[in-house]
Amino acid sequence: MAYNRPLSPKIAQLFSYCFEEILGSKDWNSLLHNSGVDPGSIQWSDIPNLQKALIGTYGLMTAQGLWQRVGRVAFHYIRRQFDPFVQFTQAGDRFKPISIRLPAGLLILNDFLHETLGCQLSTIKKEKGWQIEVTQCPECSNENLNQQGCFFLKGLLQEYLQWTDARRDFSIQETKCGAGNCQFDISMVTTD
Ligand SMILES: [Zn+2]
Repeated sequence: MAYNRPLSPKIAQLFSYCFEEILGSKDWNSLLHNSGVDPGSIQWSDIPNLQKALIGTYGLMTAQGLWQRVGRVAFHYIRRQFDPFVQFTQAGDRFKPISIRLPAGLLILNDFLHETLGCQLSTIKKEKGWQIEVTQCPECSNENLNQQGCFFLKGLLQEYLQWTDARRDFSIQETKCGAGNCQFDISMVTTD
């Protein structure tokens, strides 16, 4: 399964960067210490240990919120570090109508996530928003993870939506989750 493969240095670095950003280096280092994880070579098999240490330290609800924030920071890391996303921003695609730019940016995010985490995102236009279907989701395909929802991915998508249109508010709900197949429903809370 995808989650058993080694994490690429790129994504190991991303997790380290995001956690340190969210927790501060002191708490991040003690979390690494408590979970026995080596920050230089974070592997998929380490993620459940990190998660257990997070839940042990902060409780389930806060741990979920922290994963979501890690996802949010991850989006900004990706948009600055991943060349296709940098080009997407420079090409002015951000200023196209939302019906074009929202799925266009998601396609690029999908390329990054597929390359680094092995998952696949597809976006379907709905009457009042979009539906994102995820297969091989790295979070809920990992049986050792027990966080009741895919918060990293949710945070990442949430931040992408906010970045893609700062004038609107979006609501994002995970409406299906389990065995690597998730679904997120996105709707625009405010329109023009
Ligand atoms: Zn899920």
